[in-house]
Amino acid sequence: MSTCEQDDQRNPLLEKVAMIETLKQIDNILIVVSGKGGVGKSTVAVNLALSLSLKGFRTGILDVDIHGPSVPKLLNLNGKIPEVKNEEIIPLVYPPDLRVMSMGFLLQGTDQAVIWRGPLKYNMIKDFIANVKWGKLDYLVVDCPPGTGDEPLSVSQFLKEKAHAVIVTTPQHVATIDVAKCITFCRHLDLPMAGIIENMSGFVCPHCGKTVDIFSKGGGELLATEYNVPFLGSIPLDPDIAKSGDEEQPYVHYYPQTATAKVFEEIVAKIAKIRTEDRKDPEKTELTPPVSKNDRGKIAVPTADRKLCAHFGHCEAFAIFETGDNGTILNETYVNPPPHEPGLLPEWLSGQGVTCVLAGGMGSRAKELFAAKGVHVVTGAQGENPRSIVEDYLKGALETGANTCDH
Ligand code: ADP
Repeated sequence: MSTCEQDDQRNPLLEKVAMIETLKQIDNILIVVSGKGGVGKSTVAVNLALSLSLKGFRTGILDVDIHGPSVPKLLNLNGKIPEVKNEEIIPLVYPPDLRVMSMGFLLQGTDQAVIWRGPLKYNMIKDFIANVKWGKLDYLVVDCPPGTGDEPLSVSQFLKEKAHAVIVTTPQHVATIDVAKCITFCRHLDLPMAGIIENMSGFVCPHCGKTVDIFSKGGGELLATEYNVPFLGSIPLDPDIAKSGDEEQPYVHYYPQTATAKVFEEIVAKIAKIRTEDRKDPEKTELTPPVSKNDRGKIAVPTADRKLCAHFGHCEAFAIFETGDNGTILNETYVNPPPHEPGLLPEWLSGQGVTCVLAGGMGSRAKELFAAKGVHVVTGAQGENPRSIVEDYLKGALETGANTCDH
C-alpha cells in the first residue's frame, strides 16, 4: 500500500496556463461515466477511443480511475512506464496512434492500493491533463471511476467547455437508477451529454451467434427517452468482449468483423457527429424541463413567509413536495432547516430524501455538493408561491432567470 504526500510548490498561475494551452490542442473530450462499477465502462471507453483512433481521428485516452485503473491492462500496456521530457509526461501509444495515460503506469505493481485525499486527487488529475504532452487531438476519451465522486467532479470542472459525457449502463433496473444520478450530475455541472450506451444488453450465444435477452432489456433506451438524453446504442453481452479483456487484446482491434464490432462502429459514428461548437448556450434556456416527467421524489423550495426565498442558505423553511407519477404532487410539508453552517444544507436535504431543489439563487459550492449527492438543482426560479413553482417545473413550464441570491 502506498500513500501520497503533498509535495508541493505548485504555482497556480503556471498550472492554469498549462491547462489552457493543453485544452487549446484538444477539440473534443468524451468523459465516460457510469453510476455503478462493473457495467463495462472501461471496456466501452477503451473500445470507443480505439475505434476513433482506427478511423483516423487523433485520439487520446486518459484513465483517471485512481483506485482501479484498468486501461493499461485492456490495452496490453501493463508494466510500461511513460517517459518524462522537459517536465512533461509523454503518453504511451497503443499502435498505431492511440495516446494513453493512466494512473496504472505510475503504480509499481497492479496490486498496490493507493490512498489519496481529495485535494491530491484533484492535483493529480490536473497534472494528467495539463502536463501530459497529448499533442493535437481530435478526441480525448476520459475513463472516470464509477459514481459521482471526486474524480468525475474534477474532470468535469476542468474540461466541461469542450466535453460531453458518455453514460454507460446495463439493462438491469438497479443500474439504471444509479445512472439517473449521473444524468443529474451532468445537468448540474452544465456538462452536455453525448448520450447513453446500454452495455451487456442481450447475450451473444457463442454457439449460434444469435443474441438472446437474458436480462430485461431496453432500460438504457427507456431512461434516455425519459430524461431526454440521446441514446447511442446497445452493446450485447458478448463472451469475446470478456475474453479480449482477459487476454489484453482490445475487442475492436482483434474482432473487427463481428456484429458487436459493428455496434461500436455505429456508436462511434453518432459520437463523431457531436461537435463542441454545436453546443447550446445554457444561459439562453428560458424554460426548465423537469429532470424526468416521472420523477417520483421530493422537491424542496427555500421559503420565507411561505414564499420563494432567493436566499437559499439562510431561508426560514423548506417547502417539501412529494411527487408521484405524471407530475402529480402527493403532499406538501414545511420543514425548518438546522442552524446555518457552510455546506450543511445539501447533506441535510439529501438526508430528508430530497431529489430536486428549485431555488432563486445558490452558490457554486452548494451546487457542487448537491451534484455529488445526485440532487438536481434549478436556480433562477421565478415566482412566489412554492406550490405553483413546483407545478410549473413538473409541467416543464418553470421560467428561470439568472442565478441570483439576495444575501
Ligand atoms: P467497469 O469499468 O464499469 O468497472 P469493466 O469495463 O472493467 O467495467 O468491465 C467489467 C467486466 O465485464 C470485464 O471483465 C469486461 O471484460 C466485462 N465486459 C464488459 N462489457 C462486456 C460485454 N459487453 N460483454 C461481455 N463482457 C463484458
